[in-house]
Amino acid sequence: MNPPKQYRAKLEDKQQLNERFVQYYFELVEPNELVFSAGQYASLKVSEKGERRSYSICSSPAVSHGFELLIDHQPAGVGCTYLENLQFGQEIELLAPLGIFTIVADEAETSLALVATGSGIAPFRSMLLERLQVVKDTRPITLYWGMRHANTLFWEDEFEELAQSFPNFSFHPVLSQAEQAWPLCRGRVTDCLNTHEQAAGVGYYLCGSTKMITDVSQTVLAKGVTEQRIHHEKFY
Ligand SMILES: Cc1cc2nc3c(=O)[nH]c(=O)nc-3n(C[C@H](O)[C@H](O)[C@H](O)COP(=O)(O)OP(=O)(O)OC[C@H]3O[C@@H](n4cnc5c(N)ncnc54)[C@H](O)[C@@H]3O)c2cc1C
Repeated sequence: MNPPKQYRAKLEDKQQLNERFVQYYFELVEPNELVFSAGQYASLKVSEKGERRSYSICSSPAVSHGFELLIDHQPAGVGCTYLENLQFGQEIELLAPLGIFTIVADEAETSLALVATGSGIAPFRSMLLERLQVVKDTRPITLYWGMRHANTLFWEDEFEELAQSFPNFSFHPVLSQAEQAWPLCRGRVTDCLNTHEQAAGVGYYLCGSTKMITDVSQTVLAKGVTEQRIHHEKFY
């Protein structure tokens, strides 16, 4: 993996995905190339005092002149507020790429289960773009994404298009407070995982809250999955 470097980048664009989530597009200023592995994150300086917050890169590693971040604005702390107040063209300082939450090179992982809650979906968008479009990984890849209501989902059109284009990929949004008419998985992501068969060779990649990571890890360990097959990134 490439060693981290200090970068300056400027806010190029942003898209309000729904009332809680915003996607930010940054263009690198100096250095002007960021080579990273899907799943890695950036540490942003978010105050004059030098406070920092970590954010997973959600864009494809095939793009190296800039990067995208997905921000959940609900915590409304120093990091979220800093990003919310950024003006177009304004520069940020960051250290990247960081982290080891990447798809491991292990042929014994014959299929991949990506499990997210909330903004934990961010590194998986990057991983899916890398796996399906860049590496052309043909292993079965299943994405489980836990959210509350259907109207809190975003990127679902993009994931469904990927599922259409790449038959080895399937997408399962899981809603904890689903409307009566919701036809797909409901409850917690663990409930949805339980309805699917767990093959011996599945590599589990978990990202989001500590609670979800603990629950899913316990569930799959109880099914005989070994610890080496469980990889995780805790956001909080
Ligand atoms: C490796 C890594 C990658 C991350 N990637 C992302 C990402 O891609 N997108 C993203 O939005 N966040 C991500 N986070 C979380 C992010 O770093 C911040 O913790 C988050 O934005 C809150 O920062 P804040 O300064 O706004 O709030 P703080 O001032 O730190 O906290 C305000 C309040 O919110 C609670 N809180 C803190 N973080 C969260 C959270 N994630 N969800 C709910 N409540 C929280 C705190 O307990 C506190 O009560 C990542 C964290 C790590 C460790």
